[in-house]
Amino acid sequence: MKVAVLKETRTGERRVALVPQGVQELVKAGLAVSVETGAGTRAGVTDALYAEAGAEIAGSPAEALAGADLVLRVNPPTTEVSDEVGTIPKGAVLVSFLSPLTRPELIRSLVERGVTAISMEMVPRITRAQSMDALSSQATVAGYKSVLMAADHLPKFLPMFTTAAGTIRPGKALILGAGVAGLQAIATARRLGAVVEAFDVRPAVKEQVQSLGARFLETTEEMAAEGEGGYATELSEEQHEKELALIAGALPTADIVITTAQIPGRTAPVLITEEMVRSMRPGSVIVDLAAESGGNCELTRAEEVVTHEGVTIFGPTNLPAAIPVHASQMYSKNIVTLLREMLDDEGNVVLDFENDVIGPATVTHGGEIRNERVKASLEGARA
Ligand code: NAD
Repeated sequence: MKVAVLKETRTGERRVALVPQGVQELVKAGLAVSVETGAGTRAGVTDALYAEAGAEIAGSPAEALAGADLVLRVNPPTTEVSDEVGTIPKGAVLVSFLSPLTRPELIRSLVERGVTAISMEMVPRITRAQSMDALSSQATVAGYKSVLMAADHLPKFLPMFTTAAGTIRPGKALILGAGVAGLQAIATARRLGAVVEAFDVRPAVKEQVQSLGARFLETTEEMAAEGEGGYATELSEEQHEKELALIAGALPTADIVITTAQIPGRTAPVLITEEMVRSMRPGSVIVDLAAESGGNCELTRAEEVVTHEGVTIFGPTNLPAAIPVHASQMYSKNIVTLLREMLDDEGNVVLDFENDVIGPATVTHGGEIRNERVKASLEGARA
Protein backbone atom coordinates (compact mmCIF):
# COMPACT_ATOMS: atom_id res chain seq x y z
CA MET A 1 0.00 0.00 0.00
CA LYS A 2 1.30 3.42 -0.90
CA VAL A 3 0.61 6.55 1.15
CA ALA A 4 0.94 10.01 -0.42
CA VAL A 5 1.62 13.13 1.66
CA LEU A 6 1.19 16.37 -0.23
CA LYS A 7 2.37 19.92 0.28
CA GLU A 8 -0.67 21.94 1.41
CA THR A 9 -1.85 24.47 -1.16
CA ARG A 10 -4.11 26.66 1.02
CA THR A 11 -2.80 30.23 1.29
CA GLY A 12 -0.97 30.77 4.58
CA GLU A 13 -0.97 27.07 5.49
CA ARG A 14 2.22 25.89 7.18
CA ARG A 15 1.14 22.52 8.55
CA VAL A 16 1.76 19.09 7.05
CA ALA A 17 -0.39 15.98 7.51
CA LEU A 18 2.36 13.56 8.53
CA VAL A 19 5.62 14.22 10.40
CA PRO A 20 8.67 11.89 10.32
CA GLN A 21 7.54 10.04 13.47
CA GLY A 22 4.32 9.16 11.64
CA VAL A 23 6.27 8.08 8.55
CA GLN A 24 8.33 5.71 10.70
CA GLU A 25 5.21 4.19 12.23
CA LEU A 26 3.53 3.63 8.87
CA VAL A 27 6.69 2.18 7.28
CA LYS A 28 6.97 -0.17 10.25
CA ALA A 29 3.35 -1.19 9.68
CA GLY A 30 4.30 -2.26 6.14
CA LEU A 31 3.32 0.80 4.06
CA ALA A 32 5.38 2.78 1.56
CA VAL A 33 5.21 6.55 2.14
CA SER A 34 5.79 9.10 -0.60
CA VAL A 35 6.18 12.73 0.50
CA GLU A 36 6.05 15.61 -1.98
CA THR A 37 9.28 17.60 -1.84
CA GLY A 38 9.02 20.61 0.45
CA ALA A 39 5.79 19.35 2.09
CA GLY A 40 7.19 19.82 5.60
CA THR A 41 9.48 22.82 5.10
CA ARG A 42 7.11 25.32 6.73
CA ALA A 43 6.65 22.99 9.69
CA GLY A 44 10.40 22.64 10.16
CA VAL A 45 10.68 19.23 8.47
CA THR A 46 13.20 18.91 5.64
CA ASP A 47 13.08 16.32 2.85
CA ALA A 48 16.20 14.78 4.44
CA LEU A 49 14.36 14.18 7.73
CA TYR A 50 11.51 12.48 5.87
CA ALA A 51 13.97 10.33 3.91
CA GLU A 52 15.73 9.36 7.14
CA ALA A 53 12.37 8.26 8.55
CA GLY A 54 11.90 5.96 5.54
CA ALA A 55 9.87 8.06 3.08
CA GLU A 56 10.44 8.39 -0.65
CA ILE A 57 10.66 12.03 -1.72
CA ALA A 58 8.48 12.78 -4.76
CA GLY A 59 9.42 15.65 -7.07
CA SER A 60 5.81 16.68 -7.72
CA PRO A 61 2.25 16.10 -6.45
CA ALA A 62 1.64 13.84 -9.48
CA GLU A 63 4.65 11.69 -8.59
CA ALA A 64 3.55 11.38 -4.94
CA LEU A 65 0.01 10.48 -6.01
CA ALA A 66 0.92 7.96 -8.74
CA GLY A 67 -0.48 4.61 -7.64
CA ALA A 68 -1.31 5.89 -4.13
CA ASP A 69 -3.87 3.93 -2.11
CA LEU A 70 -4.04 6.46 0.70
CA VAL A 71 -3.78 10.26 0.45
CA LEU A 72 -3.19 12.31 3.60
CA ARG A 73 -3.88 16.03 3.78
CA VAL A 74 -4.67 18.77 6.30
CA ASN A 75 -6.98 20.97 4.19
CA PRO A 76 -9.71 19.83 1.80
CA PRO A 77 -8.55 19.43 -1.80
CA THR A 78 -9.63 22.36 -3.94
CA THR A 79 -12.12 21.99 -6.72
CA GLU A 80 -12.12 25.62 -7.89
CA VAL A 81 -8.57 26.94 -8.33
CA SER A 82 -7.25 23.67 -9.68
CA ASP A 83 -8.96 20.30 -9.69
CA GLU A 84 -7.10 18.61 -6.85
CA VAL A 85 -9.81 15.97 -6.49
CA GLY A 86 -9.24 14.93 -10.10
CA THR A 87 -5.60 14.13 -9.29
CA ILE A 88 -6.49 11.62 -6.55
CA PRO A 89 -6.23 8.06 -7.92
CA LYS A 90 -9.70 6.57 -8.52
CA GLY A 91 -10.82 4.45 -5.58
CA ALA A 92 -8.08 5.75 -3.24
CA VAL A 93 -8.77 6.64 0.40
CA LEU A 94 -8.42 10.33 1.25
CA VAL A 95 -8.01 11.30 4.92
CA SER A 96 -8.29 15.04 5.60
CA PHE A 97 -10.31 17.87 7.07
CA LEU A 98 -13.10 18.21 4.49
CA SER A 99 -15.70 20.63 5.94
CA PRO A 100 -18.24 18.12 4.59
CA LEU A 101 -21.34 19.98 5.79
CA THR A 102 -20.46 23.22 4.03
CA ARG A 103 -18.69 22.07 0.85
CA PRO A 104 -21.32 20.37 -1.34
CA GLU A 105 -19.30 20.82 -4.55
CA LEU A 106 -16.31 19.04 -3.00
CA ILE A 107 -18.45 16.13 -1.81
CA ARG A 108 -19.97 15.78 -5.29
CA SER A 109 -16.49 15.66 -6.88
CA LEU A 110 -15.32 13.03 -4.40
CA VAL A 111 -18.38 10.92 -5.17
CA GLU A 112 -17.82 11.25 -8.93
CA ARG A 113 -14.18 10.32 -8.56
CA GLY A 114 -15.09 7.23 -6.51
CA VAL A 115 -12.82 8.40 -3.68
CA THR A 116 -13.32 6.98 -0.19
CA ALA A 117 -13.21 10.20 1.81
CA ILE A 118 -12.62 10.08 5.55
CA SER A 119 -13.38 13.40 7.20
CA MET A 120 -11.40 14.32 10.31
CA GLU A 121 -14.37 16.48 11.38
CA MET A 122 -16.61 13.41 11.46
CA VAL A 123 -14.45 11.34 13.83
CA PRO A 124 -16.91 10.82 16.70
CA ARG A 125 -16.05 12.61 19.93
CA ILE A 126 -16.11 9.46 22.00
CA THR A 127 -13.56 8.61 24.67
CA ARG A 128 -12.04 5.80 22.57
CA ALA A 129 -11.39 8.17 19.67
CA GLN A 130 -9.79 11.01 21.63
CA SER A 131 -6.34 10.31 20.18
CA MET A 132 -7.81 10.60 16.64
CA ASP A 133 -9.70 13.82 17.37
CA ALA A 134 -8.07 16.43 15.17
CA LEU A 135 -10.80 19.01 15.88
CA SER A 136 -9.66 18.93 19.50
CA SER A 137 -5.92 18.90 18.82
CA GLN A 138 -6.15 21.86 16.44
CA ALA A 139 -8.59 23.74 18.69
CA THR A 140 -6.02 23.41 21.48
CA VAL A 141 -3.50 25.17 19.25
CA ALA A 142 -5.99 27.87 18.25
CA GLY A 143 -7.05 28.54 21.85
CA TYR A 144 -3.45 28.99 22.98
CA LYS A 145 -2.45 31.18 20.05
CA SER A 146 -5.55 33.39 20.30
CA VAL A 147 -4.46 34.62 23.73
CA LEU A 148 -0.89 35.27 22.57
CA MET A 149 -2.28 37.23 19.63
CA ALA A 150 -4.47 39.34 21.88
CA ALA A 151 -1.71 39.87 24.45
CA ASP A 152 0.72 40.87 21.73
CA HIS A 153 -1.64 43.53 20.45
CA LEU A 154 -2.74 44.81 23.86
CA PRO A 155 -1.14 48.14 24.86
CA LYS A 156 -0.91 46.85 28.43
CA PHE A 157 0.64 44.11 30.59
CA LEU A 158 -1.50 41.12 31.43
CA PRO A 159 0.25 40.09 34.68
CA MET A 160 0.31 42.09 37.86
CA PHE A 161 3.60 43.84 38.51
CA THR A 162 4.82 45.30 41.77
CA THR A 163 7.80 47.47 40.88
CA ALA A 164 9.64 50.52 42.14
CA ALA A 165 7.85 52.38 39.37
CA GLY A 166 4.51 51.48 40.80
CA THR A 167 2.05 48.63 40.92
CA ILE A 168 0.37 47.42 37.76
CA ARG A 169 -2.98 45.73 38.17
CA PRO A 170 -3.50 42.49 36.22
CA GLY A 171 -5.42 42.59 32.95
CA LYS A 172 -8.78 40.88 32.56
CA ALA A 173 -9.56 38.22 29.96
CA LEU A 174 -13.09 37.20 29.05
CA ILE A 175 -13.49 33.84 27.30
CA LEU A 176 -16.84 33.08 25.65
CA GLY A 177 -17.42 29.43 24.84
CA ALA A 178 -15.46 27.03 27.02
CA GLY A 179 -15.06 24.01 24.73
CA VAL A 180 -11.65 22.75 23.74
CA ALA A 181 -10.32 26.07 22.39
CA GLY A 182 -11.93 28.12 25.14
CA LEU A 183 -10.52 26.01 27.97
CA GLN A 184 -7.06 26.26 26.42
CA ALA A 185 -7.49 30.03 26.10
CA ILE A 186 -8.43 30.21 29.79
CA ALA A 187 -5.35 28.19 30.79
CA THR A 188 -3.09 30.34 28.62
CA ALA A 189 -4.50 33.64 29.89
CA ARG A 190 -4.08 32.40 33.47
CA ARG A 191 -0.46 31.44 32.76
CA LEU A 192 0.09 34.98 31.53
CA GLY A 193 -1.24 36.28 34.82
CA ALA A 194 -4.61 37.63 33.68
CA VAL A 195 -7.74 37.54 35.80
CA VAL A 196 -10.09 35.37 33.75
CA GLU A 197 -13.86 35.19 33.42
CA ALA A 198 -15.66 32.73 31.17
CA PHE A 199 -19.10 31.70 30.04
CA ASP A 200 -20.60 28.76 28.17
CA VAL A 201 -24.15 27.57 27.67
CA ARG A 202 -23.24 24.04 28.70
CA PRO A 203 -23.48 23.99 32.50
CA ALA A 204 -21.18 20.95 32.61
CA VAL A 205 -18.15 23.13 31.86
CA LYS A 206 -18.57 25.39 34.90
CA GLU A 207 -16.42 23.14 37.06
CA GLN A 208 -13.73 22.84 34.39
CA VAL A 209 -13.61 26.62 34.09
CA GLN A 210 -13.29 27.02 37.84
CA SER A 211 -10.63 24.33 38.12
CA LEU A 212 -8.49 26.40 35.74
CA GLY A 213 -8.71 29.33 38.13
CA ALA A 214 -11.28 31.35 36.19
CA ARG A 215 -14.61 32.76 37.33
CA PHE A 216 -17.71 31.37 35.62
CA LEU A 217 -20.19 34.11 34.85
CA GLU A 218 -23.36 33.27 36.71
CA THR A 219 -26.90 33.82 35.58
CA THR A 220 -29.84 34.11 37.91
CA GLU A 221 -31.73 31.70 35.70
CA GLU A 222 -30.83 28.35 34.27
CA MET A 223 -29.33 28.82 30.80
CA ALA A 224 -28.58 25.36 29.53
CA ALA A 225 -28.40 24.43 25.87
CA GLU A 226 -26.69 21.10 25.59
CA GLY A 227 -27.52 18.63 22.84
CA GLU A 228 -26.26 15.44 21.31
CA GLY A 229 -22.65 14.39 21.86
CA GLY A 230 -21.94 17.15 24.38
CA TYR A 231 -22.33 19.91 21.79
CA ALA A 232 -24.27 23.11 22.33
CA THR A 233 -27.66 23.80 20.78
CA GLU A 234 -29.18 27.16 19.93
CA LEU A 235 -30.60 29.22 22.78
CA SER A 236 -34.19 30.44 22.67
CA GLU A 237 -34.54 34.13 21.76
CA GLU A 238 -35.30 35.00 25.37
CA GLN A 239 -32.29 33.08 26.67
CA HIS A 240 -30.09 34.70 24.03
CA GLU A 241 -31.16 38.18 25.22
CA LYS A 242 -30.25 37.19 28.77
CA GLU A 243 -26.89 35.91 27.64
CA LEU A 244 -26.19 39.19 25.82
CA ALA A 245 -27.02 41.12 29.00
CA LEU A 246 -24.67 38.93 31.02
CA ILE A 247 -21.82 39.46 28.54
CA ALA A 248 -22.57 43.19 28.28
CA GLY A 249 -21.97 43.42 32.02
CA ALA A 250 -18.51 41.87 31.73
CA LEU A 251 -17.22 43.64 28.60
CA PRO A 252 -16.49 47.18 29.91
CA THR A 253 -13.77 45.86 32.22
CA ALA A 254 -12.28 43.27 29.84
CA ASP A 255 -8.90 43.87 28.21
CA ILE A 256 -8.90 40.81 25.98
CA VAL A 257 -11.89 38.81 24.80
CA ILE A 258 -11.59 35.42 23.12
CA THR A 259 -14.78 34.10 21.55
CA THR A 260 -15.09 30.46 20.51
CA ALA A 261 -18.85 29.77 20.57
CA GLN A 262 -20.00 27.47 17.81
CA ILE A 263 -22.94 25.22 17.08
CA PRO A 264 -22.08 22.39 14.69
CA GLY A 265 -23.49 22.93 11.18
CA ARG A 266 -24.94 26.39 12.09
CA THR A 267 -23.89 30.01 11.83
CA ALA A 268 -22.08 31.04 15.02
CA PRO A 269 -24.25 32.86 17.59
CA VAL A 270 -23.70 36.64 17.90
CA LEU A 271 -22.52 37.28 21.46
CA ILE A 272 -21.07 40.77 21.03
CA THR A 273 -23.03 43.43 19.17
CA GLU A 274 -21.64 46.66 17.75
CA GLU A 275 -23.15 48.55 20.68
CA MET A 276 -21.42 46.22 23.11
CA VAL A 277 -18.06 46.83 21.39
CA ARG A 278 -18.61 50.56 21.97
CA SER A 279 -18.89 49.89 25.71
CA MET A 280 -15.37 48.45 25.76
CA ARG A 281 -12.24 50.35 26.70
CA PRO A 282 -10.12 51.66 23.81
CA GLY A 283 -7.08 49.42 23.33
CA SER A 284 -9.02 46.25 24.18
CA VAL A 285 -8.70 43.31 21.82
CA ILE A 286 -11.20 40.71 20.65
CA VAL A 287 -10.01 37.52 18.93
CA ASP A 288 -12.99 35.82 17.31
CA LEU A 289 -12.26 32.15 16.73
CA ALA A 290 -15.71 31.64 15.25
CA ALA A 291 -14.89 34.00 12.35
CA GLU A 292 -15.13 31.27 9.73
CA SER A 293 -18.69 30.37 10.70
CA GLY A 294 -19.88 33.98 10.76
CA GLY A 295 -18.23 35.26 13.95
CA ASN A 296 -19.39 35.77 17.54
CA CYS A 297 -18.90 39.52 17.22
CA GLU A 298 -21.11 41.45 14.87
CA LEU A 299 -18.12 43.42 13.55
CA THR A 300 -15.82 40.46 12.84
CA ARG A 301 -14.58 40.05 9.28
CA ALA A 302 -12.97 36.70 8.53
CA GLU A 303 -9.24 36.99 7.95
CA GLU A 304 -9.33 40.73 8.63
CA VAL A 305 -8.42 43.06 11.47
CA VAL A 306 -11.18 45.57 12.23
CA THR A 307 -10.72 48.56 14.53
CA HIS A 308 -13.86 50.10 15.97
CA GLU A 309 -13.73 52.99 18.48
CA GLY A 310 -10.26 51.89 19.55
CA VAL A 311 -11.18 48.21 19.97
CA THR A 312 -9.34 45.78 17.70
CA ILE A 313 -11.18 42.71 16.41
CA PHE A 314 -9.23 39.85 14.85
CA GLY A 315 -11.05 37.24 12.75
CA PRO A 316 -8.44 34.56 12.09
CA THR A 317 -9.63 31.41 10.32
CA ASN A 318 -6.53 29.26 10.54
CA LEU A 319 -4.64 29.90 13.77
CA PRO A 320 -3.28 26.34 14.01
CA ALA A 321 -1.13 27.18 10.97
CA ALA A 322 0.64 29.78 13.12
CA ILE A 323 2.16 27.04 15.31
CA PRO A 324 2.92 24.56 12.52
CA VAL A 325 5.45 22.35 14.30
CA HIS A 326 3.25 21.19 17.13
CA ALA A 327 -0.02 21.49 15.21
CA SER A 328 1.44 19.11 12.58
CA GLN A 329 2.85 16.79 15.21
CA MET A 330 -0.54 16.48 16.88
CA TYR A 331 -2.45 16.14 13.59
CA SER A 332 0.00 13.47 12.42
CA LYS A 333 -0.57 11.52 15.63
CA ASN A 334 -4.35 11.79 15.14
CA ILE A 335 -4.12 10.55 11.56
CA VAL A 336 -1.76 7.62 12.28
CA THR A 337 -4.00 6.45 15.14
CA LEU A 338 -6.99 6.64 12.79
CA LEU A 339 -5.15 4.69 10.08
CA ARG A 340 -4.43 1.92 12.59
CA GLU A 341 -8.21 1.39 12.74
CA MET A 342 -8.23 0.48 9.05
CA LEU A 343 -5.02 -1.48 8.48
CA ASP A 344 -4.64 -5.23 8.84
CA ASP A 345 -1.46 -6.94 10.10
CA GLU A 346 0.16 -6.75 6.65
CA GLY A 347 -0.55 -3.06 6.28
CA ASN A 348 -3.48 -3.46 3.86
CA VAL A 349 -6.44 -1.11 4.05
CA VAL A 350 -9.53 -2.96 5.24
CA LEU A 351 -12.58 -0.71 5.51
CA ASP A 352 -14.97 -1.90 8.18
CA PHE A 353 -17.98 0.37 8.28
CA GLU A 354 -19.15 -1.37 11.45
CA ASN A 355 -16.11 0.18 13.16
CA ASP A 356 -17.46 2.93 15.45
CA VAL A 357 -14.90 5.46 14.18
CA ILE A 358 -14.40 4.54 10.52
CA GLY A 359 -18.15 4.12 9.91
CA PRO A 360 -19.22 7.65 10.92
CA ALA A 361 -16.05 9.33 9.60
CA THR A 362 -16.38 7.94 6.06
CA VAL A 363 -18.36 10.50 4.08
CA THR A 364 -18.05 9.06 0.58
CA HIS A 365 -17.32 5.54 -0.68
CA GLY A 366 -17.87 3.63 -3.92
CA GLY A 367 -19.53 6.56 -5.68
CA GLU A 368 -22.00 7.26 -2.87
CA ILE A 369 -22.40 9.50 0.13
CA ARG A 370 -22.32 7.33 3.23
CA ASN A 371 -22.86 9.87 6.00
CA GLU A 372 -26.51 10.81 6.56
CA ARG A 373 -25.78 14.34 7.88
CA VAL A 374 -23.64 15.08 4.84
CA LYS A 375 -26.31 13.67 2.53
CA ALA A 376 -28.96 15.85 4.17
CA SER A 377 -26.84 19.00 3.94
CA LEU A 378 -26.14 18.31 0.26
CA GLU A 379 -29.84 17.89 -0.46
CA GLY A 380 -30.46 21.14 1.44
CA ALA A 381 -27.89 22.93 -0.74
CA ARG A 382 -29.56 21.64 -3.92
CA ALA A 383 -33.08 22.63 -2.81
P1 NAD B 1 -17.45 23.85 19.56
O1 NAD B 1 -16.22 24.31 18.87
O2 NAD B 1 -18.56 23.29 18.76
O3 NAD B 1 -18.03 25.07 20.44
C1 NAD B 1 -17.20 25.76 21.34
C2 NAD B 1 -17.97 26.06 22.61
O4 NAD B 1 -18.93 27.08 22.37
C3 NAD B 1 -18.72 24.87 23.21
O5 NAD B 1 -18.24 24.65 24.51
C4 NAD B 1 -20.17 25.34 23.19
O6 NAD B 1 -20.90 24.86 24.30
C5 NAD B 1 -20.01 26.83 23.24
N1 NAD B 1 -21.19 27.62 22.83
C6 NAD B 1 -22.08 27.40 21.83
N2 NAD B 1 -23.02 28.36 21.80
C7 NAD B 1 -22.73 29.23 22.80
C8 NAD B 1 -23.31 30.43 23.27
N3 NAD B 1 -24.43 30.93 22.74
N4 NAD B 1 -22.73 31.04 24.32
C9 NAD B 1 -21.61 30.55 24.91
N5 NAD B 1 -21.01 29.42 24.50
C10 NAD B 1 -21.56 28.77 23.47
O7 NAD B 1 -17.10 22.80 20.70
P2 NAD B 1 -15.83 21.89 20.93
O8 NAD B 1 -14.82 22.65 21.69
O9 NAD B 1 -15.41 21.28 19.63
O10 NAD B 1 -16.40 20.75 21.87
C11 NAD B 1 -17.63 20.80 22.49
C12 NAD B 1 -17.80 19.60 23.38
O11 NAD B 1 -17.68 18.37 22.66
C13 NAD B 1 -16.75 19.40 24.46
O12 NAD B 1 -16.69 20.26 25.46
C14 NAD B 1 -17.12 17.99 24.86
O13 NAD B 1 -18.26 17.91 25.62
C15 NAD B 1 -17.30 17.37 23.53
N6 NAD B 1 -16.01 16.75 23.20
C16 NAD B 1 -15.84 15.44 23.54
C17 NAD B 1 -14.63 14.82 23.27
C18 NAD B 1 -14.42 13.39 23.62
O14 NAD B 1 -15.04 12.89 24.52
N7 NAD B 1 -13.57 12.71 22.86
C19 NAD B 1 -13.60 15.51 22.63
C20 NAD B 1 -13.80 16.86 22.33
C21 NAD B 1 -15.02 17.44 22.59
